[in-house]
Amino acid sequence: MKFNSVLENIKSYEAGKPIELVVREYGIAPENVVKLASNENPLGTSPAVVQAIKDNAHKAHLYPDDSFFQLKQALGKKFEVKDNNIIIGAGSDQVLEFISRAVLDEESSVLMSAVTFAMYEIYAKQMGATILRTPSYQHKVDEFILEYQRHKPKIIYLCTPNNPTGDGMRREDVLKIIDAVDINTLIVVDGAYMEYAKAKDADYALEPNDIMEFVNVIYLGTFSKAYGLGGMRVGYGIANTSLIEQLYKMRPPFNISSLSLASAIVACGDYEFVAKSIALHTEQIKRYEEFAKSQGFEYIESYTNFITYIFDDSMDSTYISDELLKRGVIIRNLASYGMNAIRITVGTPKQNDIFFDNFLLV
Ligand SMILES: *Cc1c(COP(=O)(O)O)cnc(C)c1O
Repeated sequence: MKFNSVLENIKSYEAGKPIELVVREYGIAPENVVKLASNENPLGTSPAVVQAIKDNAHKAHLYPDDSFFQLKQALGKKFEVKDNNIIIGAGSDQVLEFISRAVLDEESSVLMSAVTFAMYEIYAKQMGATILRTPSYQHKVDEFILEYQRHKPKIIYLCTPNNPTGDGMRREDVLKIIDAVDINTLIVVDGAYMEYAKAKDADYALEPNDIMEFVNVIYLGTFSKAYGLGGMRVGYGIANTSLIEQLYKMRPPFNISSLSLASAIVACGDYEFVAKSIALHTEQIKRYEEFAKSQGFEYIESYTNFITYIFDDSMDSTYISDELLKRGVIIRNLASYGMNAIRITVGTPKQNDIFFDNFLLV
């Protein structure tokens, strides 16, 4: 069997290790395993969403409303955009896939930061496109503009705030890049963590409306992080109608489940839950900053729900991650990104205590 030759170049996505695996491999009781590896919401699922799932469970035999009318209404109200400016995906991941398939071919190149969300590369390679990266792991305006001018990529990915590093871009810097690029290059602004950036520093926040006037820019958001719906797989893209119309051609029918749809509609208006999540995070991330200072290693100023610790040669991120795992603490090793660093999702006070206690034992 001969597969598409583009597959030879692709390493499949490696998700954060599930709790079940640690239970199985290390024989640790599930209640003693702490997962701080996938940027999930430590407050869990909002009670209002749990209720919506229960209320809709008996209708699982029906396909969802394929227009996603109510969800688009809710998002439209929230972001002051029209429903034909919105496309819904099974996670914003699926919108990334639509974009890649709609825009790229074997002649194309795509530009992204040296260290950023792994799926940009995977979706682009599926189309046979070439990957270009700026030298820095932070998003630097000058580097992006220089590489753009050299290669004229078909897509520029701006992950702000950035995963897995946590740094963010100022709104004015995103707009500078948009300004420097002509309409043959699509700019994807991935705002998966925007709710956290907005809470931390308004200069680092960007609203879909800030980019709506540009025909070659799309904003992506997700319910997986601040809204606590990672397991439901709901994300969205917001852009001008002509771009959304093209992406719709890539969309399979009923691409999110009826329970996901019901969850997202409720979550969208659940301001209290998001506010609680942000407040907990804001208070707890300080402990991670203090811990790094007390231990004498560096961290990257975070605009997200996680923090990245960077080690010098006296410490090894792979060793530390493995040792933590044996103790039931799952975090993300960034060695595969070429960094001697770890990424930790900020958890509940108790989960964070467990992380600090175990880190000191490693
Ligand atoms: C989590 C994440 C996403 C999307 O996740 P979904 O669960 O597919 O919505 C997109 N981009 C970044 C940078 C992320 O961290």
